Amino acid sequence: MAGALDGKVGLIVGVANKRSIAWAIAQAAAAEGATLVLTYQDRFAEHLQELAATLSPAPLLLPLDVQDDAQIDAVFAQIAATHGGLDFVVHGAAFAPREEITNPFTQTSREGFRIALDISAYSLIALARGAKPLFEARGGGSIVTLSYLGAERVFPNYNVMGVAKAALEASVRYLAADLGPANIRVNAVSAGPIKTLAAAGIGGFSTILGVVRERAPLRRTVETSEVADAAVFLLGPRASGITGEVMMVDAGYHAVGM
Ligand code: NAD
Repeated sequence: MAGALDGKVGLIVGVANKRSIAWAIAQAAAAEGATLVLTYQDRFAEHLQELAATLSPAPLLLPLDVQDDAQIDAVFAQIAATHGGLDFVVHGAAFAPREEITNPFTQTSREGFRIALDISAYSLIALARGAKPLFEARGGGSIVTLSYLGAERVFPNYNVMGVAKAALEASVRYLAADLGPANIRVNAVSAGPIKTLAAAGIGGFSTILGVVRERAPLRRTVETSEVADAAVFLLGPRASGITGEVMMVDAGYHAVGM
């Protein structure tokens, strides 16, 4: 049976290890027939090589710190040279300095705010801009980023990451409007809480998991594979009419009042 992403070339940013949501998306996209380009931060290079070896066809691996414009340019130049075009981008990069997600929100520093917004929100805009000519070479494209309900509601210690996710979701809508005429769709999957490396930095994260298990309509948290299935849907042709959307994959937690 033909896969939903057969013949498509996709860039995936945000794999750190096997628990990363972006890794589940990479596995699901490869299973649907996509050829992948994975980027990594230098400190995760070894993990990435081990994980990439399990994918077929073998992905192109490229270093990328999203704070570095020269590295962003180099990634797209390399994709152009290797594949000549691009069909989708998955953006799963996020970061806030530790003190910003443990101290009271009022203590948010100017520099901590800048770093969190730069890595977690601005990078989507920079990647969309870099990908645009490569998408156009293929007649269009699809971008999916990863958000969290903390963009809309307050969660303990999520702090400046909530502000960054609000900026990210607004950027999804502005990018969708800007890139829609070029047949480029931009959407977000808002995932329920999952114990990953990034989540481990948030003070009291296990309390959030416990509340979701108790109160979400499905009485459980979600798996990275469930987030990946929604992302692959949004990346592929079955979502051809969907852009500017934030899709909740959180066992229904967002729907309840208490
Ligand atoms: P993760 O730690 O596995 O992934 C975070 C990724 O961000 C890592 O791959 C890291 O290398 C990358 N990153 C950080 N700074 C970077 C930089 N300067 N340049 C390039 N990459 C950088 O954790 P995750 O939970 O899989 O996070 C992926 C995305 O999902 C994030 O946007 C996160 O906010 C979002 N998300 C996570 C949850 C959750 O509960 N885990 C819930 C909703 C949304």
